[in-house]
Amino acid sequence: MIHGKNIIGYQYSSKGNYTFKSFSAAENQELKEDFYSATDEELNSAVDKAANAFFAYKLQSGKEKGKFLRLIAQNIEKLGDVLISRASAETGLPQQRILGERGRTINQIIAFADLIEEGSWIEASIVKARPERQPLPKPDIRKMLVPLGPVAIFTASNFPLAFSTAGGDTIAALAAGNPVIVKGHPYHPGTNELVAGAIMKAAKDSGLPDGVFSSLNSHDHSIGQSLVLHPLIKAVAFTGSFKGGKALYDLAQKRKDPIPVFAEMGSVNPVVVLPEYLQNDVKDKAGQLVASICLGSGQFCTNPGLIFGLKNPDFDRFVFLLGEKIKEQNPAVMLNPNILKNYQDKVNNILVKKEINSFSNKENEVKESKANPVLAHVDYKYFKENPSLSEEIFGPFSLVVSCNDYGELDDLISGLEGQLTGSVFGEENDFMTYENIVNRLREKVGRLIFNNVPTGVEVCPSMHHGGPFPSTTDSRFTSVGIDSIKRFVRPLSFQNAPDYLLPQELKNDNPLGILRKVDGTFTNEIVLVHS
Ligand code: NAP
Repeated sequence: MIHGKNIIGYQYSSKGNYTFKSFSAAENQELKEDFYSATDEELNSAVDKAANAFFAYKLQSGKEKGKFLRLIAQNIEKLGDVLISRASAETGLPQQRILGERGRTINQIIAFADLIEEGSWIEASIVKARPERQPLPKPDIRKMLVPLGPVAIFTASNFPLAFSTAGGDTIAALAAGNPVIVKGHPYHPGTNELVAGAIMKAAKDSGLPDGVFSSLNSHDHSIGQSLVLHPLIKAVAFTGSFKGGKALYDLAQKRKDPIPVFAEMGSVNPVVVLPEYLQNDVKDKAGQLVASICLGSGQFCTNPGLIFGLKNPDFDRFVFLLGEKIKEQNPAVMLNPNILKNYQDKVNNILVKKEINSFSNKENEVKESKANPVLAHVDYKYFKENPSLSEEIFGPFSLVVSCNDYGELDDLISGLEGQLTGSVFGEENDFMTYENIVNRLREKVGRLIFNNVPTGVEVCPSMHHGGPFPSTTDSRFTSVGIDSIKRFVRPLSFQNAPDYLLPQELKNDNPLGILRKVDGTFTNEIVLVHS
């Protein structure tokens, strides 16, 4: 049963007069339930509760927080088919894809639970005092990572589970010891409500303070903007458009006390195809790239949107084969009417230009909610003269650029903005001949890929999902994998603190048994101090 209410700590709330409806992308019609947009009063109540909850929640041990996370995972699983059908209806994504995404979401939660239960992630570092040091005694200094305070999370339209209410951002922030306030995505409010309910129940059953988690609905930008400006919010995480992410980042920097905004804003994920790669199996290779372009109707932040190559008969044939493969693709449902319109407007702008050669199946019967895959092809000169061509077109689209020589290819890579990924396809000879191109691409991306497509982000400790601006607002951090927890903590040093006032992680007898760096050496041992 969907009730459409906001979740303010342990209370359901519907104080506002404004309601909105969710939308079924596949059926191209509104769903029946009404959702109540949060009021300022409800927002303030959620943030006040979060700030109060922080004092107790930050002191929970890794084991206690781990138990809470595991309960969230169990409660999400218990939602069963209700969650799968709701998420599929609200996004138009096939149930099979949502099932896979639920598995990923649960695995992420368990990975964070394992991390915090083990405990060493807080990077405890202890340098013992040396009172005898000359000319001045050396103090005892101990450092660890501590949580920031209430975090506001903006959920993503294209990952209703894995990057949404109980997605990587929320779970990383909670795992680190921060209360979370989710601003639900207006195109999947029912999915948000179900998952938010699962988190609320897990918090209650774990005996956590009221306010450790809240979820707010909204029909416009006002609630999101007020959250970012609220003085008690200490960090923001966002996945979505450049326009949205940058607007929220700028807002946060205007605060009296600017706060970090970790916005993942997507990219065009350039692909460089080197000459010897096209010596064999070209049809299969074209098929692999087109499958990546069209995966999930192209609605991935890692979608390969730009393909660079050196003009020669092999590359011309490769472009032709890419075009043929694109024509074999069926139109697919897009997440929502806004995203579809955005896609169609941007693609239509491209299709009307006579300098741009395009490939698509014009016979495809395109229904209202679906997008037809398109591949476009231009030369280096036209691409350079039209910088807007390097902007992301979110959907099943990619642009191929043919360069006449090494210098032009080098110039294109040099001119790229920051990207989540960059892929290079080549043989060993190519990699040696074009080593400088590879090295230049390295500077532009968060993940450098060899002979593989950028879609399909493996969730593992060594994955980096981030990149230089404008793909994200902070290239030092990932939004996928356990290291994403580092976004929501800060280092804190304790100087000459009495042992009884130190956090468990830094006490002499190491009650948690975690790995710590003591005087430069990693050890699980206790610390012996001379009194
Ligand atoms: P979006 O428009 O950026 O919205 C994402 C969230 O941010 C929504 O909850 C929206 O809330 C909020 N928001 C956006 N602009 C805001 C502003 N100026 N002030 C306050 N809040 C703001 O993304 P979307 O709706 O998911 O999709 C739109 C476009 O984003 C797509 O066409 C695509 O280009 C891009 N996109 C990129 C990625 C990626 O992986 N990087 C993922 C999805 C979409 P309200 O609408 O409630 O205000």
